[in-house]
Amino acid sequence: MLASPLHLDIRAGAIDDLPRLLQDRYISTTGSVLVAVGPSTGREIWARIEGALPGAAVHGVHEASLKAATELQAALGERGYDAVVAIGGGKTLDVAKYAATRAGIPMIAVATNLAHDGLCSPVASLDHPHGKGSFGVAMPLAVIVDLDYVRAAPAPLVSAGVGDVISNLSAIEDWLLAGRQRGEPVDGLALAFARLAAESVIDRTDSVHDEAFLVVLAEALVLSGMAMSVAGTSRPCSGACHEVLHAVDQLFPGRASHGELAGLGAAYATHLRGQPERFAQIVTCLTRHGLPCLPGEAGLSEEELVTAVLAAPQTRPDRYTVLEHLGLDEERTRASVTAFVAAVAEVRAAG
Ligand SMILES: [Zn+2]
Repeated sequence: MLASPLHLDIRAGAIDDLPRLLQDRYISTTGSVLVAVGPSTGREIWARIEGALPGAAVHGVHEASLKAATELQAALGERGYDAVVAIGGGKTLDVAKYAATRAGIPMIAVATNLAHDGLCSPVASLDHPHGKGSFGVAMPLAVIVDLDYVRAAPAPLVSAGVGDVISNLSAIEDWLLAGRQRGEPVDGLALAFARLAAESVIDRTDSVHDEAFLVVLAEALVLSGMAMSVAGTSRPCSGACHEVLHAVDQLFPGRASHGELAGLGAAYATHLRGQPERFAQIVTCLTRHGLPCLPGEAGLSEEELVTAVLAAPQTRPDRYTVLEHLGLDEERTRASVTAFVAAVAEVRAAG
């Protein structure tokens, strides 16, 4: 059986239907929900719908941490809420997914940006005292993407989602490699969702400034979440690309966002794999959306990228990707980064 949201609504003004959704789908007939809001647009949206939800209470989420999730879970226990509605970006949604799962109540995701594929995934990424962890959680019961708010978000925040979606193409190759080399089971339906999500975005020439593009990007991010749900693991959307990104996050925190590093990691891994056409397609897409391809564009020196690539396999010790397959030493990793940088320049010069 397939775990999927009951309801998906991606359009301008979608938030106004939230009270009716809670009623019609019997999620909360009394409107007794706890609304978790992020620090910026979450509050603004809450002010817009507050009057239509007299039974609701509001709870502020300020960081994507285990501590914030535990506080939200405690707030959920104070009253018999029917559901938690999370309004905001990835951080607010991750905190609410974790708290709702632990409290055993449904969660409605109202996404205000499209920076990564966490809006509808069975994984929450949260900071804890020893670093950052990925936690398995229940999928949101309903997902609302209000394009009015997505459009109002800073463009780079939204474009970053493109990097996360197209990294699926690299993650898929790693999964198939693990299937061939290690006999790891590969789920065909998860592959289909993950691949279609990436292919639907990669060659489009419109951008986050166009509504039609935002709809496809939002749908692609939801499909990526579904791929992970089907697979029961983040495998279809996370391979060497994400190992490199986790290593950068650990060693050089704050340099670039999740989606930006996922795209760069996918470009590097695809070059390492020796797929020149796919590599050119990825570089062209990332460049078109103003996303980083070269280490310098992500705030990293070439030597820092070498350090991150060498550390990458340890971030997911159980995951077999092109990095573990090739097992490059320091010298060959440095050579691979130099060749990658030259190849990016070559694709751009040709384009
Ligand atoms: Zn990702």
